[in-house]
Amino acid sequence: MQSTMMDVPLSLTRLMLHATTTHGDARVTTWTGEGSRSETYAAMGERIARLANVLRDFGITGDNRVGTFCWNDQEHLEAYLGVPAMGAVLHPVNIRLFPEQIVYVTNHAEDEVVVVDGSLAVPFGKLLPQLKTVRHVLVTGDADLAAVAADGVEVHRYEEALAAAEPAFPWPEVDERQAAGMCYTSGTTGNPKGVVYSHRSSYLHASGLSRGDVLALSPLDRVLPVVPMFHANAWGLPYGAALVGADLLMPERFLQGAPIAAMIEAERPTVAGAVPTIWNDLLRHGREHGADLSSLRVVICGGSAVPRSLMAGFEQEFGVNVRHAWGMTETSPLASIAIPPRDVADDEERMRIRLSQGRLLPEVEYRLIGDDGGVVPNDGTSLGELEVRGPWVTARYYQEDDPAKFHDGWLRTGDVGTIDELGYLAITDRSKDVIKSGGEWISSVEMENALMAHPDVVEAAVVGIPDEKWQERPLAAVVVREGAALDAAQLREALSAQFAKWQLPDSFTFIDAVPKTSVGKFDKKVLRRRFAEGDLEVRTLPHE
Ligand code: AMP
Repeated sequence: MQSTMMDVPLSLTRLMLHATTTHGDARVTTWTGEGSRSETYAAMGERIARLANVLRDFGITGDNRVGTFCWNDQEHLEAYLGVPAMGAVLHPVNIRLFPEQIVYVTNHAEDEVVVVDGSLAVPFGKLLPQLKTVRHVLVTGDADLAAVAADGVEVHRYEEALAAAEPAFPWPEVDERQAAGMCYTSGTTGNPKGVVYSHRSSYLHASGLSRGDVLALSPLDRVLPVVPMFHANAWGLPYGAALVGADLLMPERFLQGAPIAAMIEAERPTVAGAVPTIWNDLLRHGREHGADLSSLRVVICGGSAVPRSLMAGFEQEFGVNVRHAWGMTETSPLASIAIPPRDVADDEERMRIRLSQGRLLPEVEYRLIGDDGGVVPNDGTSLGELEVRGPWVTARYYQEDDPAKFHDGWLRTGDVGTIDELGYLAITDRSKDVIKSGGEWISSVEMENALMAHPDVVEAAVVGIPDEKWQERPLAAVVVREGAALDAAQLREALSAQFAKWQLPDSFTFIDAVPKTSVGKFDKKVLRRRFAEGDLEVRTLPHE
């Protein structure tokens, strides 16, 4: 029997129109370093219509791609809402990729127009001659345009183009399965791979993110996406906030602890999201200089495992609830979030659950695949690689075959862990980062967490290094707090409370900073390479 319901598409056109009319009083506020500039969603709605007219005059119709090369700010949001709403495809380019990767993704996506942040005009201009499909560039702010030039490319000032355009646009009704946007993975090996989101997947993801079992967003919220809009769509926070009419606070390029603290104090966000590296910096700043973070009802943190020291520090010293989430560019990205069940009385048990990657959302089906290729039970101890599928999980990469990433209609996440009876996922490692010592696994993530719990440790990453007897042994790369005296023996002693003797690392290296990927995650590939090239000064203790 067929339903009697209307078959109306779920689209970002609808989302944008709802946000800029029904929630026209909500605001987007961009931090400028000293203060902020702000606009209502209603006024932004008119600017979005003007942008759509500008793009249509450039010949953007159907599924042409429009790139952005921007920080998180109002203009970036205008493109975010306007480009998909007109039926075209938004491609936020990761400005932190290596230059050759930026060229690769822009050419691969065949971006025809790029909206460029004025403060990035010079680095973008250097690459422009290699961007084969770009015909028009819109530069925000009042940057010097001389740096942005290439044969066959017209360069415009964003504000002037908008001012000259009509303030109304005939918004189309798009097919919900059409492409709305695309992001490339920040893959540390090989070329980044493209994931293409549909209107339907983006709309459902925005709805899911806003729901009570995730962030419970409402028009009363002020949402601060510190996570860049080019990193898995800032985890869906811009679309989620727009959908419910929450204010958006944009940090622009001011991403260190001090300016983030200043922005939080001045603009009083209720919800914020970023990777642990950013929150660690804010925590350090708050400890040294004080910070009023009392407006935050929840901070969403993911992208890599949240260290216990970070979660406990925010909660105990600043009263802020850090909520751990897991996801991937391939999963839109939000797939799981850690909210403990209501009746967990024991503080230690609550913390254990909050430090897990949480429960998968209802839209994301999951299973763990063991070493023998079979499904392992969700008993909290059986390890396996996580596979997922669902309406906002990608079924393939854009114009690239990668059969190893897909398995009978499921996405192989490359993350290894356990799931307990209540569905809480605990990731112990990336499959390529697991350390296998004498046939047994050592979780690099757990060891990093334990090291970072030491008050004198700023950051720590653990990688496997070849060993004749045990195949692999852990090497701990540690960044010690300035002025602190901490040696390898003390660190190993500190770890011995939590790890079996055979798991304890014998090799330590003290470094200035853990190398990071373009989205702020520990780049263990670089550490392994530096070790292989003899570039790390390793202190090896006798094996006990
Ligand atoms: P990306 O597509 O750049 O967001 O990277 C996705 C990968 O980041 C996942 O496959 C995980 O390996 C890692 N990741 C994301 N969130 C978490 C988390 N909460 N804990 C541990 N690893 C995470």
